Amino acid sequence: MQGIHTASETGILRLPADSGRAALAALICLIVTCMHGAARADVPAGDTHDAASSIWLRCGALWDGRAVKTAGPTLVEVRAERIVSIRPATALPDGKVIDLSGLTCMPGLIDSHTHVLLQGDITAADYDEQLLKQSPEYRTILATVNARRMLSWGFTTIRDLETEGAGYADVDVKHAIERGVIPGPRMQVATRSMDVTGAYPLVGYAPNVVVPKGVQEADGADDARRVVREQIYHGADWIKVYSDRSYQVQPDGTLDDIPTFTLDELRAIVDEAHRQRHKVASHAMARQGVHNSVEAGVDSIEHGNYIADEDMRMMVQKGIFYVPTIYVGEYVAEGRAKAGAPVWKQMGEIHEKTFRRALKAGVKIAFGTDIGGFDWQINPAHEFGWMVKFGMTPEQALRSATVGGAELLGWSDRLGTLEAGKLADIVAVRGDPLGDVSRLEHVRFVMKGGIVYPSAEPTP
Ligand SMILES: [Zn+2]
Repeated sequence: MQGIHTASETGILRLPADSGRAALAALICLIVTCMHGAARADVPAGDTHDAASSIWLRCGALWDGRAVKTAGPTLVEVRAERIVSIRPATALPDGKVIDLSGLTCMPGLIDSHTHVLLQGDITAADYDEQLLKQSPEYRTILATVNARRMLSWGFTTIRDLETEGAGYADVDVKHAIERGVIPGPRMQVATRSMDVTGAYPLVGYAPNVVVPKGVQEADGADDARRVVREQIYHGADWIKVYSDRSYQVQPDGTLDDIPTFTLDELRAIVDEAHRQRHKVASHAMARQGVHNSVEAGVDSIEHGNYIADEDMRMMVQKGIFYVPTIYVGEYVAEGRAKAGAPVWKQMGEIHEKTFRRALKAGVKIAFGTDIGGFDWQINPAHEFGWMVKFGMTPEQALRSATVGGAELLGWSDRLGTLEAGKLADIVAVRGDPLGDVSRLEHVRFVMKGGIVYPSAEPTP
């Protein structure tokens, strides 16, 4: 999200220091997947396995996304792209076994707020540079690296919430992943996003200079409907709207804003998206933006630094998700405080209070990080620690990135838990993540749809 996003100054991505090892792991991965009949790069996942043969994951422990505790040694049987059975590891089966006996297996992680096409935007200059000096093609190349990185960190699914001026490139990244051309998480994408005229960068240029915008502008209910139709036509899974901007801390400790769309416009956007069986994500950080979004019936509130109690009640009633993106706010606050904008520090304090109230009120919370708004060198699993610091139990934090994310994406039937019949999206870490969520920053095994991919840290 612009306004929170941060930057690497150059937009140049460094591969991890162990990229040689990653290449070797990729080779091993190909060998492993070929052994059970997978890894044909030109065929969609799902057609890639020999359906007749099973492989077994021998997990030292397992958290299935449902139980309150981690189970002991467990065997997970995978055939083609799905989980076939899960049972205690009393005896080793015949057939191919992947030994994860030193690790705890769990469902693949879901980040419900990413920007694979953005390399940070902590200053306006960072953002302008990406839109003015980098071609969409170059930005897409960087996005493929980001997608691979996300998967290696154990995020097997992401909801990518707009391309920040890179058009419909997210649809292409998603398709390339689905077709097995490049490695990456499953994706739902929001394409160009929407805001009203004059509210979104690039801003500050002379009136006679035409500059690109980080969003598609729309004004009036009819025009808003037209833009929703256009974005869905070109491949948007989600419609993303910017509902507010320009934040001010009030004397009573609440956070005020300038709402962008009118309630009438927002209602038209939500109605048009829902008519076409699509959902709406609303960037809303403060009082009026959140209120209008909730009133209009969006499906998720992004960031939500301040949410009034009555709006929380309506979120619970309507089943609207809260995607708090805590860490990026802290990250931006550091940068902007140095640049003389201390309001972001205060916004962080308000955010914590809001998060704690939302937890208590029973608002549905999905894990989302806004990565791309901060540097792609930082593992987004860092967010788990902030959720726990702000009052969640480790189990609640983990659920928000598994069961919660799957529900938000409408994929509870195939993702979010480890159960027979679900897709084999399985990751593994050392030790019990329910004991220490920082372990999620060190994923050592990644399987997506029954195929093993290189993990950021080596499988022991
Ligand atoms: Zn964002």
